Amino acid sequence: MKKDVAGTVAEWIREARKIVVLTGCDLSAESGLPDFSDPRLNPHIRDFRESREVRAEYWKKIMEIYPSLLSAEPGPGHRALAELEILGNLDCIFTQSADGLHHRAGSATVIELNSSILWVTCPSCGKDYSIDEIAGMLDKGAQVPACRECGSDQLKPAISFPGQPPPHWEAREAWMRLHSADLFLIAGASLDKEPVASYPYLAKENNAKVVIINEKEGPADDHVDAVIYGKPGQVLGYILKKVKESITIS
Ligand SMILES: [Zn+2]
Repeated sequence: MKKDVAGTVAEWIREARKIVVLTGCDLSAESGLPDFSDPRLNPHIRDFRESREVRAEYWKKIMEIYPSLLSAEPGPGHRALAELEILGNLDCIFTQSADGLHHRAGSATVIELNSSILWVTCPSCGKDYSIDEIAGMLDKGAQVPACRECGSDQLKPAISFPGQPPPHWEAREAWMRLHSADLFLIAGASLDKEPVASYPYLAKENNAKVVIINEKEGPADDHVDAVIYGKPGQVLGYILKKVKESITIS
């Protein structure tokens, strides 16, 4: 009989003292969110700062995806992780997604590694705007939103563009929490780039069990304790069901 990997992972979840989770775009894709890797959404920071045209293109693309940002609902994976937090032992979720869906699912401890697209900041005076306020400015005909306080037209979400380091506090916090985890679940995340690419190895060095759930093969698959290929949200939902069943039985 084929070994039930999901059942084994459910057991590990029950036994773990401190679970850390990493999620990414593939989990959000199940909620109908657009592909955030579109180059127009990821201009090089130098081009963004220097060219009004690049900024206008960026905001045009933001307005294209804005309706789906507004209407996206947490998927089965977001909900399963929020439930797992209530059951105990889930220390925190780091996410590569910038869509706020873990918060909307009710998860309390979420570290957004790439920050959030839902907040926009003025680099000159530091004033923050919600994406809804920015959408309002663009709706009224502005091609590039300008700060109401200081007039700067360099507003941008706190997301790191190519050429910018990842948000510092978030990366450090993730690193620290990973050091004390004994189970590291990776669901729908991309492990292609640093610093995240090192996380599975860091967790292994600290004797944590590492589980990858993804549709596609990834660079760390051969180096972790279990890999489950499938839609990450559905797999997480299934694992959570197993965890709850085992709690009911015992
Ligand atoms: Zn300003």
